[in-house]
Amino acid sequence: MPRTAAPTLSSPIPRVADRDRRRTSASVVLRSVLEHGPVARSTIARLTGLSPASVTGHCARLTGLGLIREAASPRPSGGVGRPHVPVDLDDSRLVVGGVHVAVPYTTVALLDLRGRVVARREVPHSGAADPYDILDGAAGALAGLLGARPGVRPLGVGFAAGGWVDRASGVVVEHPLLGWREVPVRDALGTRTGLPVHVDGHARALVNAERLFGRARGSGSVLHLFVGNVVDAAFATNDEVHHGPRSQAGTIAHLPVPGGTERCACGRTGCLQAELSERTLCRRARAAGVIGGMNPQHVVRAARDGDPVAVRLLTERARATGRAVGLLLDVLNPETVVVTEIGVLSREDCLGALRAGVGDGRAASVVPSSFPDSVLAVAGGSVALDVLYRDPLGASADTRPDAI
Ligand SMILES: [Zn+2]
Repeated sequence: MPRTAAPTLSSPIPRVADRDRRRTSASVVLRSVLEHGPVARSTIARLTGLSPASVTGHCARLTGLGLIREAASPRPSGGVGRPHVPVDLDDSRLVVGGVHVAVPYTTVALLDLRGRVVARREVPHSGAADPYDILDGAAGALAGLLGARPGVRPLGVGFAAGGWVDRASGVVVEHPLLGWREVPVRDALGTRTGLPVHVDGHARALVNAERLFGRARGSGSVLHLFVGNVVDAAFATNDEVHHGPRSQAGTIAHLPVPGGTERCACGRTGCLQAELSERTLCRRARAAGVIGGMNPQHVVRAARDGDPVAVRLLTERARATGRAVGLLLDVLNPETVVVTEIGVLSREDCLGALRAGVGDGRAASVVPSSFPDSVLAVAGGSVALDVLYRDPLGASADTRPDAI
């Protein structure tokens, strides 16, 4: 075996470092345009600490990739290099696809570069949730959404689901409610769409959406708690989302809730997911004669129509969610807590009950999701948008325009 040569001036190591620095700076510039656009290049330089020449170079590259453009009505500057012509995101041409798999249905969507949902479709699951049938249906729906918009180009697809999702390998390791185990979603969906696919757990996807496009923008640390049929959490500090080994962080389904009475499949009583899942809410609502089926939206509708039992069930669930948030605040002490829960998203009394459950002066840091009408569509697409904003040069370079 030859010994490894020491790095020399002509070795590739410095070039790799340069490339990494260029990627990081491009990411900083694109984030600055997202947050401040339309914004002058000179202002970006001031905000980011990059040199004006470097900002100009990055803006030229990002413009070439179709990610940014000069704003519609520039102020006249007359100077060379047009430093005062503001730039803004180009949200007219590039989109990402989003796929979110819930227990009863899959949400497929297109998002623009601002994280806004420009098209979406729900695909119901028929009977057993066979993963490859579901991914076939998602790819077909995505092709349909893109086919209706010939002017837009997809950069990639983000996939989000509850359960245990390993971002690094692109695998849904385990999703007990769907009955999925070791499903290679990144490869399977990549084959079906011909696009780069990125995969993550939905609580982490939504914490990224809140950081980039929502209320947690600018927050030093943020915890997101997702309470649907699946209950899980994600935590981010300074733009980094904690994943843990094989992305197992945030699995809080069996955290004991104070005062819980619900039997869990694990054999204990009062586990967070058993206590707070939408199935439990619907079962209780059905037993009380509030609804006929198992749709949590029907409980919300009954409450809106004035059914006092529906109101009580929703506020009790919100209060129990607040107690769980209180436990997580004790452990993680984030600046901002974002909660995605059906009652909290639609009712002030539920938000009040949530905050009461959190208690003792910390309630003000607890806010509902920034995406009340589109949370599942945003979750899927945000996985791909997070990749784009971290590495705009890499994420937009490997796209085949005619894919899908
Ligand atoms: Zn349990």
